[in-house]
Amino acid sequence: AKRWGRADAVLRELEERCAAPPARLRQVADAMAVEMHAGLASEGGSKLKMIISYVDALPSGEEKGVFYALDLGGTNFRVLRVQLGGKEGRVIKQEHDEISIPPHLITGGSNELFDFIASSLAKFVASEGEDFHLAEGRQRELGFTFSFPVKQTSIASGTLINWTKGFSIDETVGEDVVTELTKALERQGLDMKVTALINDTIGTLAGGRYDDNDVIAAVILGTGTNAAYVERANAIPKWHDLLPKSGDMVINMEWGNFRSSHLPLTEFDQALDAESLDPGEQVYEKLISGMYLGEIVRRVLLKMAEEASLFGDEVPPKLKIPFIIRTPYMSMMHCDRSPDLKTVGAKLKDILGVQSTSLKTRRLVVDVCDIVAKRAARLAAAGIHGILKKLGRDVPNTDKQRTVITVDGGLYEHYTIFAECVESTLRDMLGEEVSSTIVIKLAKDGSGIGAALLAAAHSQYR
Ligand code: ADP
Ligand code: MG
Repeated sequence: AKRWGRADAVLRELEERCAAPPARLRQVADAMAVEMHAGLASEGGSKLKMIISYVDALPSGEEKGVFYALDLGGTNFRVLRVQLGGKEGRVIKQEHDEISIPPHLITGGSNELFDFIASSLAKFVASEGEDFHLAEGRQRELGFTFSFPVKQTSIASGTLINWTKGFSIDETVGEDVVTELTKALERQGLDMKVTALINDTIGTLAGGRYDDNDVIAAVILGTGTNAAYVERANAIPKWHDLLPKSGDMVINMEWGNFRSSHLPLTEFDQALDAESLDPGEQVYEKLISGMYLGEIVRRVLLKMAEEASLFGDEVPPKLKIPFIIRTPYMSMMHCDRSPDLKTVGAKLKDILGVQSTSLKTRRLVVDVCDIVAKRAARLAAAGIHGILKKLGRDVPNTDKQRTVITVDGGLYEHYTIFAECVESTLRDMLGEEVSSTIVIKLAKDGSGIGAALLAAAHSQYR
């Protein structure tokens, strides 16, 4: 009885510390909007980098012709081609291929990596069939999705700041990745021009806009989290160049790095951050994204195991291994609808090697998942509300203009309780009248086709 009391006390304290009631969410949304302003005002003016993407035209639907895309951001890269048929024809045909990168290439030389990519692309281009029609005298054009930190210098150039995700090729750091790719394409004898360099968030925004003209922002909720949106160029004080013809500029917020004193942080979050590879950075991402949610749950369960013998007299040794509870497992346990929580029991056995658990223990595990997932979802909703606020779309408008936010990422796509909580929280924050004009839409094939569409929207022949 005494140990249940202790376990319940840990749970209650967690619940209190994670609480994100409406008033607090409003503060978070306000802080997001304030930081957006600050990040647009000056370079380094905010934790939010608010990176100018140089994407000043999103796809209109009028795009015509063959376009290619290359997506590099993990251990696989994807190549894709589309035949676009303008307003009537839309996407006439689309083909793609996924190629895994030999592990020795991600820590080798720059030319070796880019030569491998270029030769894979050349093979893909060689397989282009009769139903793709490149207009007479035109060069093939490519959109390059490169999801690593880049200092963008124009729509089709940017220097690599540093590699992440296990890539480590010193030679490439500080180089223009489009130049590197273009030189490799030339070495392959492939006549192709890179007309857009983007990241996955901007690709998602472009794909969303192509499908629905009312899309104004894209949010990624996957392993990590980020957002991009369409800003008026004259509302960007740090932009000193000529105003783009469209009057618009897509901003890559890098919102994972958002932080605010209003974010509900616990001892578990603080420890996770302190032991992470980037302490003090990506604070918002560490509360929200798929990479971390299961790990927060693990830390809470470890405390309950140590202080309240949640899994018996001994703490299961596996529970001490960081990141052993992956977020997909957390979501399977959380969504268990069986009366005796069978799935929870089975997962605890699979993941932690705990042979048997009482129903009361399994219930506590579900409660912990619920608190951690709902805090994340509510904070994500507050972030979206912040964007709407910045754009003045959080108040009733007379012409009932629709506002659409496209969301991509495995966390949102597969974790139903999480996704539903994002939507219901946003509805509550906005009230009935405004939320009837706001739509959250799951992206179809977010970034892949988006890069090809942006290659078209920024074509040299436009
Ligand atoms: P990435 O963000 O790396 O581009 P995805 O968008 O496919 O990749 O998202 C993958 C992430 O989504 C995983 O790291 C995991 O955190 C989360 N995820 C995938 N499936 C589930 C699931 N069933 N429940 C909860 N989270 C999931
Ligand atoms: Mg992704």
